[in-house]
Amino acid sequence: MADYITITAPKLTDAVRAIVLAGGSTAAEAELVATNLVEANLRGHDSHGVGMLPRYVDAIREGGLTVNAQPKPILDTGTLLTLDGCEGYGQAIGYAATNLAISRAREHGVCIMGLANSHHIGRIGHWAEQAVAAGLVSIHFVNVQSRPIVAPWGGRDARHGTNPFCVGIPRPGVAGGAEPIILDFATSRIAQGKTRVAFNKGEQMPPGIVIDDQGNPTTDPRFAVIEPAGAILPFGEHKGSGLALICELLGGALSGGRTWHQPSTGKRKVLNSMLSILISPEKLGTAQNLFSELEQFVAWFKQSPPAAGVEEVLIAGDPERRWKKQRFAEGIPVDATTWSEILAAGEKFGVAASQSRQTAGG
Ligand code: NAD
Repeated sequence: MADYITITAPKLTDAVRAIVLAGGSTAAEAELVATNLVEANLRGHDSHGVGMLPRYVDAIREGGLTVNAQPKPILDTGTLLTLDGCEGYGQAIGYAATNLAISRAREHGVCIMGLANSHHIGRIGHWAEQAVAAGLVSIHFVNVQSRPIVAPWGGRDARHGTNPFCVGIPRPGVAGGAEPIILDFATSRIAQGKTRVAFNKGEQMPPGIVIDDQGNPTTDPRFAVIEPAGAILPFGEHKGSGLALICELLGGALSGGRTWHQPSTGKRKVLNSMLSILISPEKLGTAQNLFSELEQFVAWFKQSPPAAGVEEVLIAGDPERRWKKQRFAEGIPVDATTWSEILAAGEKFGVAASQSRQTAGG
């Protein structure tokens, strides 16, 4: 079992922000990157949290990630928005792009946004949460270009990325309006970062998730992390594999981005392209109906008697909210391998490990 250190969210944010700043980002960009990564840890998705920072640092050093980029408008008709993410920090590009789409959807009732070629935009639920906070429903199809890691249903090797799909629905009927539906998942059996987390912890995967470099079942996460490469299987058999295909085509192509069928440039980077549809229920004239039906349906849904071993039927978004409450109070556990990678990443930008340790609270 690997060792952990536990760091409070504000201290971890300080340590990450300092490293991002040292990489040449503006204070505003460093703040977006640090808070976004720590938010992923707070919400229980360590795969998309601070453990990504060493990857970003390498990508910057190899020219695969451009600091201080802004989304570049390719087309803007109000309801239709096509943006080039310019291989910028996804946390900053995603924030600016979603803000633009929100303003258009508030004005026109809907915005269809294609965002092509951003560097890694992290947890897609983050963007749905931003839209939900503005009272909007949002649907997101995303593809990932770094190296193929997921096998098609029935295939023996990797042909595409973990292609996440996400839907956010606001719930203003709930006191404080703070309990939205956020369905947000990779279309692979698990997110790729979770194999890295298991690999770093020295743990095996449950069966049925990874295949080795020969296409045979394995529980060793190494085949999804280091060479020789195997693959992660798609979730939901042929149906999940079909949704991954749709994410590749809508997220990777209709957005103006690229799909997998070409060799990578060799630079270390993770590019995301995303097609997002933002809808204003108010402008559609169905807000009252949506929010009333939603509360009645969710109550009915949650009344299903829990199956053996299940405490309570949850809705999408509940687990992340629970994690956040717990980790905000108790701190974020960072495994020893991930923490030493973060310290080493800081040193590449001239931030001494002792300084990062001190910023993180010793
Ligand atoms: P996951 O398997 O943990 O599933 C998460 C979804 O399922 C959430 O909506 C959650 O609320 C819901 N959920 C979980 N347990 C539930 C339960 N018991 N009852 C009801 N709902 C439940 O997620 P994942 O596939 O590991 O993805 C993790 C994160 O990785 C996501 O945020 C995703 O956007 C992100 N991701 C990003 C990229 C990228 O390239 N940027 C690629 C892949 C995944």
